[in-house]
Amino acid sequence: MSDASHKKEQLCLWAKSMFDRGLTCGSSGNISVRLDDGGLLVTPTGKSMGFLDPAEISHFSEAGTLLSGLAPTKEMPLHSAFYETRTGTGAVVHLHSTHSVAMSILPDTDPNDALPPLTAYGVMKLGRVKLLPFFMPGDPEMGAAIRGLAGKRNAVLLAHHGPVVAGKDLEAAVFAMEELEESAKLALLTRSLCPTSLSMLQIEALVKRFNIDK
Ligand code: ZN
Repeated sequence: MSDASHKKEQLCLWAKSMFDRGLTCGSSGNISVRLDDGGLLVTPTGKSMGFLDPAEISHFSEAGTLLSGLAPTKEMPLHSAFYETRTGTGAVVHLHSTHSVAMSILPDTDPNDALPPLTAYGVMKLGRVKLLPFFMPGDPEMGAAIRGLAGKRNAVLLAHHGPVVAGKDLEAAVFAMEELEESAKLALLTRSLCPTSLSMLQIEALVKRFNIDK
């Protein structure tokens, strides 16, 4: 099986898995995956992530020509910005997952550190999550805002919209997205209970041990 065929199948499987777990609904959410030949696979516009057909996945050449599949998501700028600025990005996942969206609309969420460092894996998989302002869906300025981070963050929250996460491959991006949503859920669950965060010393030890971008 070719690299493109294999990755189209994997993309559809992970998209369905996330949809089935309620991590995104309707036709929301989109995924892109880099191919070994420099091409790009992107989920098509207006399609549910739970019912994707590998043949419908937008398949772009390295030069950006649509080789097969349907028209891509209108949120392409989110994806392109990560590939352009973050070396080693092999996949990007964007969802409208409930708890992450909730964190993006709370008035006391820190734009530079949107999720409190409550767990080791949250710190390891996400580093510091950047909260970006509200943009109209499909606005190319969303991409400009991500490029403005100069590849220093692998996870961002779009205010009143949803999270975007980049990883070295599809599995890594999905795992980081799952960690983000769980971290947001944990933060909301414990919010009124005054939870303790990891200490600066503990965070620094994690950053050093696991070579995390902070
Ligand atoms: Zn979206």
